[in-house]
Amino acid sequence: VTVDPARHARRLAEAAGRAAALGASAVVIAPSPDLRYLSGYDPPPLERPSLLIVRPDRAPALVVPMLERPLAARSPAATELELVAWPDGEDPYALTASLLPEGEVLVGDRIWGVHVLALQRAAPGRRWATATPVVGAMRARKDADELDALRRAAHAADAALADLLAAPLIGRREVDVAADLAKLLIAHGHASAEFTIVAAGANAASPHHEPTMRTLAAGDALVLDFGGVLHGYCSDTTRTVALGTPSARLRAVHEVVRRAQEAAVAAVRPGIAVEEVDRAARDVIEDAGYGDRFFHRTGHGIGLEVHEPPYAAAGDRTALEPGMTFSVEPGIYLEGELGVRIEDIVAVTADGVESLNRSPRELRVVD
Ligand code: ZN
Ligand code: ZN
Ligand code: ZN
Repeated sequence: VTVDPARHARRLAEAAGRAAALGASAVVIAPSPDLRYLSGYDPPPLERPSLLIVRPDRAPALVVPMLERPLAARSPAATELELVAWPDGEDPYALTASLLPEGEVLVGDRIWGVHVLALQRAAPGRRWATATPVVGAMRARKDADELDALRRAAHAADAALADLLAAPLIGRREVDVAADLAKLLIAHGHASAEFTIVAAGANAASPHHEPTMRTLAAGDALVLDFGGVLHGYCSDTTRTVALGTPSARLRAVHEVVRRAQEAAVAAVRPGIAVEEVDRAARDVIEDAGYGDRFFHRTGHGIGLEVHEPPYAAAGDRTALEPGMTFSVEPGIYLEGELGVRIEDIVAVTADGVESLNRSPRELRVVD
């Protein structure tokens, strides 16, 4: 995603408009993906607060420690922002409070508790609430550049999997296969590999298994769930393969999960509540008698972060809009025996759905 100051100007204006529509007087954002999304400025979160303040009736301000000012001044949206720098020894919270109008202040999810508590002391009388309805809602709907980045990340993850499965796996250890997956993500253009779940046999029944020294053996189900960051946007995909001849049980369970995943993807279209995507997957798995063995949500939004709104889970009634992207990843987990999960990232289109991952979904048998 290219640097474009106009994009950040638009986003800052939209955030101010959404805050006004909610009756809020300000939005306060700490270093986080929210700050990067709105301003293009991406410092690490520190004990010295850097805070973006978006207000409906005034230009946005960025409060930064004096020593961070040169970097902040070079960030993409710097021309849109009033930079307010504070030297060590001054009270940054009193300074920030002086920029917060009376009323309701919406606070980004990733601000440290220590900063919120100090702000609440420095700015008494304000009401405090979450900024997710403003920034989370904006980030959930990707623009064309963001969709392109997510598409490239998904294709690179698919290519990494294809390379991994081209060589024999039986006899190797989970940790070594995980290391290979990480290298393949990088080889296919990822800047970083963030997670590589490699779970064989009974380990596959633990959805967030950490790879171990266990050796992959014929007869195992193997869950591969991995992703990283490419051009700032995340990949996340899962396939379950059979090592050697699969048992009848693995075949049957895999087919249920495959049909559940297919049904959930087919349900995606603008206007439906995202929880209906979860319902579609769950109906298939419940009908097959494995309802209590599918104990996680069907999916999560993805973008700058691997987990972000909306969530394909009972209770999330977010209406799907074109440009929203999320995972569809039903699973069935049989304690002590096996686990199966299939995960693709999908994008809501004007009239339906685009699957960004294209690895085959049939049970693949590998040596
Ligand atoms: Zn997960
Ligand atoms: Zn995943
Ligand atoms: Zn996922």
